[in-house]
Amino acid sequence: MIIAGGGIGGLATALTLHQIGVSCIVFEAVLDMRPLGVGINLQPNAVRELSDLGITERNLDQVGLPAKEWALVGLNGNDIYSEPRGLLAGYNWPQYAVHRGQFHVLLYEKTVDRLGQDVVRLGSRVTGYRKNADGGVTALIEHADGSTSEESGALLVGADGIHSAVRAQMHPDQPPIHWGGAVMWRGTTWAKPIRTGSSFIGLGTHRHRIVFYPISHSDPRTGLAIINWIAEVTMDNSEGWKQSGWFRQVSIGDFIHHFDTWIWDWLDVPALIKQADSVFENPMIDRDPVPTWRDGPVLLLGDAAHAMYPTGSNGGSQAIIDARILGAAMVEHGVTQEALAAYDDRLCGPISKLILRNRGAGPFGLLNMVDERCGGTFDNIDDIIPAKERAEFMAAYRAAAGFAIEQLNTAPPTIPKGARVRAGW
Ligand SMILES: Cc1cc2nc3c(=O)[nH]c(=O)nc-3n(C[C@H](O)[C@H](O)[C@H](O)COP(=O)(O)OP(=O)(O)OC[C@H]3O[C@@H](n4cnc5c(N)ncnc54)[C@H](O)[C@@H]3O)c2cc1C
Repeated sequence: MIIAGGGIGGLATALTLHQIGVSCIVFEAVLDMRPLGVGINLQPNAVRELSDLGITERNLDQVGLPAKEWALVGLNGNDIYSEPRGLLAGYNWPQYAVHRGQFHVLLYEKTVDRLGQDVVRLGSRVTGYRKNADGGVTALIEHADGSTSEESGALLVGADGIHSAVRAQMHPDQPPIHWGGAVMWRGTTWAKPIRTGSSFIGLGTHRHRIVFYPISHSDPRTGLAIINWIAEVTMDNSEGWKQSGWFRQVSIGDFIHHFDTWIWDWLDVPALIKQADSVFENPMIDRDPVPTWRDGPVLLLGDAAHAMYPTGSNGGSQAIIDARILGAAMVEHGVTQEALAAYDDRLCGPISKLILRNRGAGPFGLLNMVDERCGGTFDNIDDIIPAKERAEFMAAYRAAAGFAIEQLNTAPPTIPKGARVRAGW
């Protein structure tokens, strides 16, 4: 099998295929794997799959830490909502807040250890594909030195991210990237974690907020941990995104004025931002859903299939789930187009709905409700949104995103232990 893209989705697919006895080659555009990005969350459903892949909590503790709480706080510093996360919430698996780049490198090292060094071909960009008369597919590859080559296989998985070349060929009329007006400035700062010591905190209003959470255990000598933060403002988007790229390094002076009065006795936002090593700006973007993620022997997975707003903290987790559901479909149907059809039938519809749900603010939708009902200022949140309504809102999100606690705890493994694709397929 051929995999385009060695990100979280592509490498989780390679590890899964290896586990079920299917060989593969991964073509990755970058020349060397460096730990890029800041924080992401791995939800309990994804941590379960990682554990079934032999990636242990000990491994994850090297690149992050278990999350304990998810909380929304109003601009006056009053709690809007908080709930325990991971094991504390009753899941059988923890939720992890990790450094995206370090986690990615962990997956890369596991892949190379288990599948061999030459399985991941770096500096190799997939530019498109050709469907063959025998039912197979040929991937067209451009190498970093400018040369080109072709690789044929039974199936091609496009795990090449939000700017996917595979998706662009599969859906040539897809609309351009969608930007809803929110701009994010992201960075990491060594600071003392607050509340539980591993709390995800969303503070502010739905158009003006900061989200922050630790992504490392605290240093026992200093008590400091790496705090991942995302400062966010929603702007007028009627003229579209004006910068030339989607991701750039900026200086703190470019945006700190949006947050310079955000100081409470328990938190100093300007200080948190100013102590970051480097800061990146990117607009909050996603892609409109497409009706299918499959074109004969070609399949989309991860952000290539369903790039979504990070409001639900589920982009990385869903890429891992995709890989495992594809593996389960192959155990049932072999390395065949039927397996791709089973995956597409199971995921494309519900996850497309989740893209639109995250566009409507995902779990941060509670901030919209506070804003609509009282303009964001309140003394007691119970007077604005009763506790029952808050709990119901969050339960509905959990169910839609596949995080429902009982359902996950009682579900059989996605891929039974020891399952292999039958020989001859
Ligand atoms: C450099 C980087 C930094 C990120 N930082 C963050 C972050 O800080 N916080 C966050 O929430 N999310 C971040 N993300 C996104 C997050 O990793 C994804 O939403 C999620 O993990 C889904 O993973 P994916 O494998 O589908 O896509 P990605 O993680 O985007 O991986 C796609 C991979 O495909 C490669 N690629 C792209 N085009 C081609 C091609 N044509 N041929 C071959 N290879 C190709 C890319 O180099 C990349 O390695 C980042 C992604 C990248 C690539």
